[in-house]
Amino acid sequence: MGHDHSHAGHQHSHGESTKNLGIAFFLNLGFAIIEIIGGLWTNSVAIISDAVHDFGDAFSIGVSFFLERYSKKKRTVTFTYGYKRFSTLGALINSIVLLVGSIFVFMETIPRLFHPVPVNYSGMMWLAVAGLAVNGFAALRLMKGNSISQRAVMLHLLEDVLGWLAVLIGSVIIRYTEWYFIDPLLSICIGIFILTNVCRNLYAIFRILLQATPDHMPEDKVKTILQEVPGVKEVHDLHVWTLDGEKNIASAHLIVADDTSREEVIRVKHDAVDRLKEAGIDHLTVEIEYETEGCYSCPVE
Ligand SMILES: [Zn+2]
Ligand SMILES: [Zn+2]
Ligand SMILES: [Zn+2]
Ligand SMILES: [Zn+2]
Repeated sequence: MGHDHSHAGHQHSHGESTKNLGIAFFLNLGFAIIEIIGGLWTNSVAIISDAVHDFGDAFSIGVSFFLERYSKKKRTVTFTYGYKRFSTLGALINSIVLLVGSIFVFMETIPRLFHPVPVNYSGMMWLAVAGLAVNGFAALRLMKGNSISQRAVMLHLLEDVLGWLAVLIGSVIIRYTEWYFIDPLLSICIGIFILTNVCRNLYAIFRILLQATPDHMPEDKVKTILQEVPGVKEVHDLHVWTLDGEKNIASAHLIVADDTSREEVIRVKHDAVDRLKEAGIDHLTVEIEYETEGCYSCPVE
């Protein structure tokens, strides 16, 4: 034990960011519902696509809102790592929901590209103006906050502002040209944007689930840090992985000279833990081996 880190000093900012997450959640969910109704009313697949995007945002904000408390839960006899990876699971579910939603929208949208159907462009225009006003206001409000979660939410709102801007411009063009294919074209652009984000997220999620080394923390870099600890002759059986993309873990065997004293061994262990902590690995488990002892636990490696 003894790995606990106190968060008592950040109580205020945590409460603030939780409140903003709550606002952003209801904003996105409200917009998703309004967009589904508005999309059906105006017959616009571009607005339906945006509804999928907003629903995905609401879902991911809801998950992080819920997990902000849940992931702080202490370890149990079953979940010895605690609940950190539950957020990875939430991100995976979110990606699958967005993937399925986008595929359904594509199935509706692609035929319309070749056989355009009329849309209610003035309805689209009014929805876009309202969307721009509310999303723009919320983005401006959150721009003042500087916590990571606030910035992420702000970027999402900014995407939505751009989405509404595209719908506004598209509906004006349709009004003057009657080029109804612009609506499915916008829808496909929004869908590709959603799927690009989904692919990026899935890549990060699978890296975590397949126990790849953390970003910017390849094995050789960690090995170099450990080898630089005074008294360490060699490093082997090194494993580096990440719980949730933020909390990183490593285990290693360190070889020391045969005549290393008890005090020196303790110093080597503490030094190794401190250096890795500085590099962003919060939890290191080391095994100390004497030079002529040989490696008992991993003869295969
Ligand atoms: Zn311990
Ligand atoms: Zn977004
Ligand atoms: Zn091993
Ligand atoms: Zn060993």
